[in-house]
Amino acid sequence: MSDDPSVLEPLFKRLGLNASAQVFAEMAVQAEKESWSYGAFLERLLSEEVARRAESRIALLMARAKFPFQATIETFGGVVPTPLDFSFRTDLKRNMLGRFLGPELVSANRSLILEGPPGTGKTHLCIAIAYKAIQNGFAARFTTAAALINDLRGASDFESALKVYTDPPVLVIDEVGYLGYGPGAADVLFQIVNGRYLKGKPILFTTNKPLRQWGRVLHDEDLARALIDRTLHHGEHLKLSGASYRLKGRKVDLDAPLATEEAGKNGQNA
Ligand code: ADP
Ligand code: MG
Repeated sequence: MSDDPSVLEPLFKRLGLNASAQVFAEMAVQAEKESWSYGAFLERLLSEEVARRAESRIALLMARAKFPFQATIETFGGVVPTPLDFSFRTDLKRNMLGRFLGPELVSANRSLILEGPPGTGKTHLCIAIAYKAIQNGFAARFTTAAALINDLRGASDFESALKVYTDPPVLVIDEVGYLGYGPGAADVLFQIVNGRYLKGKPILFTTNKPLRQWGRVLHDEDLARALIDRTLHHGEHLKLSGASYRLKGRKVDLDAPLATEEAGKNGQNA
């Protein structure tokens, strides 16, 4: 038996108990001072190990998710630490999203298609949902439709490239709808959707296009229909509307002709 950290440290490490190796010595001093029982000491040591492992797992999953920015449900509609306030997005109620924030997102394969114009918070909400999934212990991966299609079309090893998107329990595919994917896009996307559907894994899509236009966007009506069908089998389609959060408080008339266009028409140099 030994209190000597130099004896215990390699043993902890050998067992993969890295946090214990780090905190053992200091905790032993405190335990002595405060006369903890052996049981209390062991409980504290193991709790610390478990807590640190959970923390580093979340940090690892966050890095692997490749989110373009950090977003949480709590920061939606208000500045932290203001409590949740959906005042800006009055068409969206928190209870509509509740279904996607628990472990049922994964266990019940709850896919989501968030449709809406730019700036309505689609990307933010998908990141926030995927972030919750990570906190619930699931790996998640964020990508845009364009990046995914490019990645898979250019892949030398298609099967392993496909796995990047079919393995994670949660996948976000952002921005379906910006035209110009070229031929083959629907096929690639369908393989991901079908692969995940067969394994019962959800996808969170965002799009600026109504679903009936996905066929045109992806250059294949039948495949577009098939992939929407699979996504919505256990999933939901939510539409966001209203003003852009990016342009909040500003008056921007998107229907007005661009200044340069106008100047050109009038025969002036802008
Ligand atoms: P979209 O994907 O619909 O174009 P984003 O989710 O990218 O919109 O939102 C644009 C920016 O505005 C992001 O920085 C996002 O965090 C922020 N944002 C959007 N809606 C809200 C909201 N209701 N509350 C707080 N921030 C928001
Ligand atoms: Mg977006």
